[in-house]
Amino acid sequence: MVKRVVIAGGGTAGWIAAAALVKQLGPLIDITLVESDEIGTVGVGESTIPTTRTFHNLLGIYEQAFLRATTSTFKLGIEFENWNRIGDKYFHAFGTVGKSVWMADFQHFWLEGRRQGFGGDYGDYSLEQQAGNAGKFATAEGSKISYAYHLDASAYAKFLRGLAEPAGVKRIEGKISRVLQNAETGFVEALELESGSRIEGDLFIDCTGFRALLIEQTLKTGFVDWSEWLSTNAAVVVQTESTGPAMPYTRAIAHEAGWRWRIPLQHRVGNGLVYCNEFMSDDEARAKLLADVDGKPLFDPRLLRFKAGTRQQAWNKNVIAMGLSSGFIEPLESTSIHLIKIAVSRLIQAFPFGGISDATVTRFNAESRKEMEHIRDFIILHYKLTERDDSPFWRRCRDMHIPDSLAQRIALFRDNAAAYQGPDEMFRIDSWIMVMLGQGIEPASYHQAARMMDPAQLRQALSDLKSGIAAELSRLPPHQQFVEHYSAG
Ligand code: FAD
Repeated sequence: MVKRVVIAGGGTAGWIAAAALVKQLGPLIDITLVESDEIGTVGVGESTIPTTRTFHNLLGIYEQAFLRATTSTFKLGIEFENWNRIGDKYFHAFGTVGKSVWMADFQHFWLEGRRQGFGGDYGDYSLEQQAGNAGKFATAEGSKISYAYHLDASAYAKFLRGLAEPAGVKRIEGKISRVLQNAETGFVEALELESGSRIEGDLFIDCTGFRALLIEQTLKTGFVDWSEWLSTNAAVVVQTESTGPAMPYTRAIAHEAGWRWRIPLQHRVGNGLVYCNEFMSDDEARAKLLADVDGKPLFDPRLLRFKAGTRQQAWNKNVIAMGLSSGFIEPLESTSIHLIKIAVSRLIQAFPFGGISDATVTRFNAESRKEMEHIRDFIILHYKLTERDDSPFWRRCRDMHIPDSLAQRIALFRDNAAAYQGPDEMFRIDSWIMVMLGQGIEPASYHQAARMMDPAQLRQALSDLKSGIAAELSRLPPHQQFVEHYSAG
């Protein structure tokens, strides 16, 4: 029987896991969470993707309360600067672009329109991109706009704790000094704290961050290293004062050895400079970040190190790793918090009430790995498809060999403008296309469905789509104004 769940760690991962488990399975299990104020949390992770909203709905989170507690703003996508060439810009927006028919997706119609001279830009058919560029946003019951949030990571963990504790999660403050295993099976039996107390459990969720105290330090599960493709391995982060209205998108600005993010919250801006320390020293990164941010820093920059990759098994014996302990893919597309939510949702669906079986573990691990590989490929795409040759870092990215799974996707689009979303894959066709176009691919050919249309009819169809977006846009208020009004409500 599995009834006692122990969560080690109380960062974003620990409290997401706790809140979701107690909300969904509360009456059936006992949940204890141990965290150490002395160790603290990683304290970054502020840009999210739209699946966050699905997860919040599952937890019954009231959006306005969440916005107030986490000083969140809305996010419609990411603006990429200098990725393909210095001076280039493109937007990876949430939501759907244009309108597809079963035979051919929208990009084929757009490409034909462009050939005939009236297609415009692909992003002209994305409400989210147009609203992002205009700095506009609103949401209401039934609204079609797809969005996520920029949030304060520490406040978010506190907010989730505020939901989880009253619902029955027992929190213990203390430092875990030993992980006690069964001598025969190697299963974890208890966590021993520095105070000497013991917390026994049937199932342990390792949310101890990069320390990976249970899954790696104790069980030696192993790590699959992806740094040959994703070579950034450090970040310096700093928060700054706001200098203007918050825009509803994250900025990802490439530099000679990586990139920099800018995430606007209601009360401040989160900034970080991600780099590969083979090509940029920590001091250089710190100085570059401080030179490039546009508000007054609120503290000295902090340095974080990481390595791209994933655990050999997310679930090993009776330990499941969630969050940074399970692996890390750099934050370019803000996917880590999503991965925590998916992992806990998967656990809830496959909860091993009757005992841990190999079949359950194998399936859980296969799904986790597939998902990580999917995200990995999507991130590599941004680096591989560059024309930059101004630095050794970019030359290496451009020339690297990439996984076959990604090479095949690129070839499909390059040859025939085709893209796909496989079962259970998170990034939709529109995402792949926006990034592939943004990174400079010009498809050699495309589906000819649009040639069966009268040119005037195609022109009208594309123009109607743009007018529909323009009409919606005209009804949207400035994002900053909406956030202030809505989160006060
Ligand atoms: P942590 O926050 O490190 O928490 C670990 C917990 O374990 C803490 O509570 C700590 O006290 C506890 N602990 C550790 N050891 C012990 C012990 N011995 N005893 C007791 N307690 C212990 N994700 C996104 O989705 N979007 C982003 O924009 C984004 N940006 C990022 C930028 C960077 C540079 C990095 C490194 C990550 C980013 N992430 C992002 C990832 C995101 O920060 C994490 O996924 C998220 O914060 C979860 O972290 P965690 O809870 O796993 O680990």
